Amino acid sequence: MSEEIHPRVLLQRLEQKARRRFGQHFLARPGIITRIVRASRVEEGDRVVEVGPGLGVLTRALLAAGAEVTAIELDRDMADFIAEEHPEVNLVRADAMRVNLDEVCPGSGWKVVANLPYNVGTRLVLAWVAEHQRFESLTVMLQKEVVDRMLAEPGTRAYGSLTVQVAARARGRLITSVPPAAFYPPPKVDSAVIQLFPHAPELEGVLPEQFDRVVRAAFAQRRKTLRNALSALYPKEQVDAALAGVGIDGGVRGETLDWQAFRAISARLYAVDSPAEG
Ligand code: SAH
Repeated sequence: MSEEIHPRVLLQRLEQKARRRFGQHFLARPGIITRIVRASRVEEGDRVVEVGPGLGVLTRALLAAGAEVTAIELDRDMADFIAEEHPEVNLVRADAMRVNLDEVCPGSGWKVVANLPYNVGTRLVLAWVAEHQRFESLTVMLQKEVVDRMLAEPGTRAYGSLTVQVAARARGRLITSVPPAAFYPPPKVDSAVIQLFPHAPELEGVLPEQFDRVVRAAFAQRRKTLRNALSALYPKEQVDAALAGVGIDGGVRGETLDWQAFRAISARLYAVDSPAEG
């Protein structure tokens, strides 16, 4: 770590520029890299998936911690670089959104550690937190605004469908905020490292797709009451019956409700055939 070469120098050596379409912002502060790896609690022999190793700053720290690293990289030049510098890395040349996880990281106990490309970060985290059997934890850098939304408290502005969808699937915590100057080239926005521990969905019979659909509908138009927002997607009588059934006032806004309330509403809307009370 002490001998880490600045990404600007590495890029020059490779005669390359950071590619905006791949969301390339390389970590240039050893302190932050150490912080990420320490937070991830990666130990000797742990299986780690890194998305977008880029110039390998984080990869090297993970290898130094004793991890067996599987790295998914879309940019061919970056992948060539990793293959050459770190032949011990199991390199997957692909779009992380499209890989077959059963092939890339089969089984369980994997840790995800990555400075994610921000153009796919939110979608990737949403998809991967649902993989609670496969992923023990995700310790990832994202835009600060996205991390704030994932960890928001009910009733705050940042609270929304992303918060509720993540909360139903994982416990999360903020590791640290990271300023633009920690990257080369610096992104326009602040970043943050979030850690998520996926757990089995506690949706009590509601299908994840159904839950997500209700949650997205509830927040589709933030100014609307819960009743009106849901009525855009479900018949009004059904919405009223569901809300009455769970004892939630349809005049409130979605952002006042926790994820368990959405689970209860979803269960009623989709009339789960379990012998629910009442
Ligand atoms: N981990 C490095 C680079 C982060 S920049 C560091 O911290 O310095 C984001 C990286 O993700 C780049 O290497 C970029 O090429 C790669 N990338 C972008 N989109 C990707 C995708 N869909 N799948 C896999 N890698 C991707």
